[in-house]
Amino acid sequence: MSKNLTSRAEDYSKWYNELVVKADLAENSAVRGCMVIKPYGYAIWEKMQAELDRMFKETGHQNAYFPIFVPKNLFEAEEKNAEGFAKECAVVTHYRLQSDPDRAGKLRVDPEAKLEEELVVRPTSEAIIWNTYKNWIQSYRDLPILINQWANVVRWEMRTRLFLRTAEFLWQEGHTAHATKQEAIKEAELMNNVYATFVEQFMSIPVIKGIKTESERFAGALETYCIEALMQDGKALQAGTSHFLGQNFAKAFDVKFTNKEGKLDYVWATSWGVSTRLIGALIMTHSDDRGLVLPPKLAPYQVVIVPIYKSEEQFDAISEKANEVIKGLRNLGISCKFDNRTTHRPGAKFAQYELQGVPLRIAIGPKDLENDTVELARRDTLSKQFVAISQLNETVTTLLEEIQDALYKKALNFRDSHITIVDNFEDFKKELETKTGFISAHWDGTAETEQKIKEQTKATIRCIPENNKLEDGVCVYTGKPSKQRVLFAKAY
Ligand code: AMP
Repeated sequence: MSKNLTSRAEDYSKWYNELVVKADLAENSAVRGCMVIKPYGYAIWEKMQAELDRMFKETGHQNAYFPIFVPKNLFEAEEKNAEGFAKECAVVTHYRLQSDPDRAGKLRVDPEAKLEEELVVRPTSEAIIWNTYKNWIQSYRDLPILINQWANVVRWEMRTRLFLRTAEFLWQEGHTAHATKQEAIKEAELMNNVYATFVEQFMSIPVIKGIKTESERFAGALETYCIEALMQDGKALQAGTSHFLGQNFAKAFDVKFTNKEGKLDYVWATSWGVSTRLIGALIMTHSDDRGLVLPPKLAPYQVVIVPIYKSEEQFDAISEKANEVIKGLRNLGISCKFDNRTTHRPGAKFAQYELQGVPLRIAIGPKDLENDTVELARRDTLSKQFVAISQLNETVTTLLEEIQDALYKKALNFRDSHITIVDNFEDFKKELETKTGFISAHWDGTAETEQKIKEQTKATIRCIPENNKLEDGVCVYTGKPSKQRVLFAKAY
């Protein structure tokens, strides 16, 4: 199976698309830009959800659910947000179909069933949520509100890619309300840190934390915090965002509260989200020409056992051994699958699990039964070893940790060796043509310069890194004075 995969060097984009489909993660659907997430892909998403959900709850948040539709008059209340998303909105105008008098057996929209108020399919939920918070908040005692929602949203994207950019995507969106500006800023920063911790520790993907420039900021936000990752083709990917929304939404929806001093004030807001795009990041960071490579913490199963047998007796004896092994591993909280299908040969199974990135593969054959061993193969390094069954639990536990760690280090090395410091525009352009990756350069702080650089090189400012050290320099494009470097890259 893996032989059929286009190599990354040959055509990175084709490699990605093929891998998503062949590893059985997702496929295109009958709806342009919308994908079907298949069970194996969905199992990875569920693992991400479970851990993120745990982290959200640990930081005081609760889940709730709000409608998928936003009445247009609510949607347009916060003007900047509405304007920012207007071009990507799907809108419901009618609520009924009827038999088409001109085409037998077909349906048409019932012209009589026009909605009085058109409904926007949520591209993000600030509007509907802040319209609701208005009824929930009267006094400082009602604050903070720390809510998360797991949902789907629709953004009518023109150029779509499975997972990375789809017209409908799954995500979580946190929406919090606070009594003070400082508290809201702290929340936005906290959630960006939660994302960074999750992506680094669970997905083994190193990220750069920072803030967006004004032109890359979320529509309606005063500050957008983000985490940026670097893919193997040298393009950056925005892996998560957390927004400080100031009082914009409170003002748009008239959400006021009586503060401790007895004065009326508008409520402070944040919102933050990560999406199924993270699965795209996972694929593009770790996978190789043979297929997916999964960090153990996100693998739907961490260990797969494949029996190698000739006769039915051998199959039975190996199955018995395999079940013993599984019991031992499961007791340690390690997820295992025993592939006892008699319809597939071991070679086909090996190829499938390689393509699907299962971190560890155990093969048990008749020789192993005699010697009380198994053959253990690592997906990331493709190395194999024989392990005594008595040592197996310990070896697997250690290896899973090692793989998780090794994937992170490999990605970190790659990332760090793809950050180039550049001091003039000629080098900037040359660098982008030859190597790609992040470029660290001085910028004069204007949207105009940012736009010009984007037009000429396709590179955008990914972020102004957190803890950036201040240094005097001149803008790589205009030569005007600058106090700090920012990170540019071509991005997904
Ligand atoms: P935003 O609300 O624009 O800050 O986006 C929230 C999260 O969703 C970010 O992590 C984005 O990278 C991600 N995202 C934005 N648009 C899409 C899309 N079309 N498909 C998948 N993920 C997206």
